Order: sequence, then C-alpha cells, then structure tokens
Amino acid sequence: MIFIGGAGGLADAARAIRQRQRDLNRRIELSNQRRRLRKLNREPVGDYEPERAEFHCAFLCGACDFFLPPRDDDNTMPACACPSCGESEWIDLGLEPAAGRIRDMEAEARMQAPPHIKRAVLFTSLSFFILVFSVCVLGEFFAPDYFSPSLVEGGIFFSLVGGVLLVPLLYYVAPRPLSVLWLKRQTRLPHRWHVPLPLPAPHAAPEKTLAEMSAQPLGETITAPVSGRECIAYEICVLFDTPGDARPAEWVLQEQGGVALTLNGELELQPGSYYLESPVEPIDTPGLSLNGSISAAPSARYKAFKRFLRQRALFITDGDFHVYEACILPGDSVDVEAFEGPMYVLRHTNAPERGDLPRLPRPLFPGH
Ligand SMILES: [Zn+2]
Repeated sequence: MIFIGGAGGLADAARAIRQRQRDLNRRIELSNQRRRLRKLNREPVGDYEPERAEFHCAFLCGACDFFLPPRDDDNTMPACACPSCGESEWIDLGLEPAAGRIRDMEAEARMQAPPHIKRAVLFTSLSFFILVFSVCVLGEFFAPDYFSPSLVEGGIFFSLVGGVLLVPLLYYVAPRPLSVLWLKRQTRLPHRWHVPLPLPAPHAAPEKTLAEMSAQPLGETITAPVSGRECIAYEICVLFDTPGDARPAEWVLQEQGGVALTLNGELELQPGSYYLESPVEPIDTPGLSLNGSISAAPSARYKAFKRFLRQRALFITDGDFHVYEACILPGDSVDVEAFEGPMYVLRHTNAPERGDLPRLPRPLFPGH
C-alpha cells in the first residue's frame, strides 16, 4: 500500500466549492422560474390529464438542478428531500408540459446575453462618446491652439451621432459575441447533475490516501448508459451546443452511477459513497456522429440515447450533443482519497489532474 500526497486534490476541492457557490447564484435565479413549474406536478383539474412520456423519467430538484435518475420499477414522486439543497419539491420530467417548459426556458436563456455584459457594453460605449464630447468642448476653452474649430465641430458631431446611432446598435449587436467569449472562460455547472453527495467539505483533508488499488465489483456490474460498457462505475458528461446563440458549448449533464466494489479485496465501498474523478473522454454515439448529425436510419442505440436524453428533459433535435465518459472497469487500478463521511474520491492511477469542479474538463468546443 503506497501513500500519496493529497494537496492537489485539496486545492481542487476548494476551487470546486467556490465555483459551486458562484453557480448557486445562477441556480437561485432559475429557481424562481422553476417554482412556477411545480404547479405542473399538481393533480390535474377537471378532465385535463397532462401528457406523459412513454417511459419513466428523472425527477429534477426545482432549486438546484440535482436530479434523481429514472428508476425502471418505480415512478412515484420521491418523498426524500434533495440531498444537495434540502428542498423537497421535485419536478417530474416525465410530464410533457413540465419538460417542454424547461426546454423553452433554457432555449430562451441561451439566446440572451448575461445582463452584466449588456450593461458593460452600454456603459463603455456611452462613456466613450461622452469622453470625446467632453474633450472637444474642454479643449476648445482651455487649449484652443490644439483644438481648431473644425476639429471641435467634427468631434462634437461624431460624439452626438455616435451616441444616438452607434450606442443602440452596439447594445443590440455586441453583447451576444462578447457573451460567448466571456462564457468560454468560465467553468459552469451542468444544467442537470447527479453525483454522490455530500462531497468533501472545502478545506477537508483526506483522512487516508491509497494508491494503486485494484477495483473489483462485489456483485453484478453496471452498464454505462451510452457506450454500453459493462463497468463498476461510470461518469457521463454531455456537452451541448447550438450555433448562433449567446452561449458557447456548455455542459448540460453530469451523471455518475456505480455498484458496490472492493479495492484489493480489503476495502468495500457501497454505491453512493464514492465520487469518480477520472477524466472523461469523448465517445462516439452509434447512429449519431460526433458532430451531432443524425443518420438516415437511426440505430437502436441512437433511439436509446434519444430516450436517455428525454428522461433528463434534454431533446436530441435541439442541437449538437457530445458525449464524454469515464468508466472503472473490473481490474482497473485506482487511487483513493478517503474523507470523513465516509466519502471516497476515486481516480484512475496516473490519470491527469482534472482541474476545477465540477471536476469536468472545460468545454472543448469541437470544431474550433
Ligand atoms: Zn436541490
């Protein structure tokens, strides 16, 4: 058994929590809108029966975007509180009106630049023309040798015309491309996420670190949802993009699943008690090319992927979906950090650092 340093992981965790706090603000903004959706979960009035998906779907927390994955054998509203935020109002994504409303809200949000970017464009452009105007007027009084009448007239004309015509034009045109550039530099949480909780506290040091442990399932393996690989644990991340909107490609889904496992035959971990931190890699989706185009005759796995997305209120025809996955296969060698809880963080031995949380890579912007 070899002990390894955990400083890198600790720094990651601290950055991760700060990022999570920032993203919480975005979620609070959304939560007010989501509350309106909750009424869709209520009993129908009169003869109205909301349309449902043909299969069981996930339940989404209206406040923080955490979701409970669909269960094959049970479609009842969960009675538990959200393990992320403690709210206990779930949105049933199987209801078509609820899923459709979320889809519309997210599509609308993607077309809008963040308000602070709009304000920055307005402030900067107005300030520029006011500055030109002020310099010309003041220059005429205090430095007439340098500011000839024609220069002053030209400057005033430029600032007035610019202020009236160019400021509204810039305000209308510039925020969207600036928003894409700005958001490309951000790491944002995915729109739907399901990982074991609670994650280690911001400054928690691992109680124990173990290296080069061989993982084996304690019972049956689990099937990774998109690649179909038989594994002990998986993480699937989905990057989504629609050209021409005010957002770069962004993570819309992060989901982890796994079964009970044993490490070197001496440590047993139960599902939900370990977080998989290995880097995700792009995978091809049968029937769907990596740039999202649909083949003429969708394969069974394409249909399964479409269903997988719909169960999480994502719609395959809305844009380009790029799927990333990490799997622990039976016999894989992993490094482990054990935290209070207990909560374990697993990473493939020799896997590169992941960077900021949500321990997702930055969007790769395929094709750019
Ligand atoms: Zn929640």
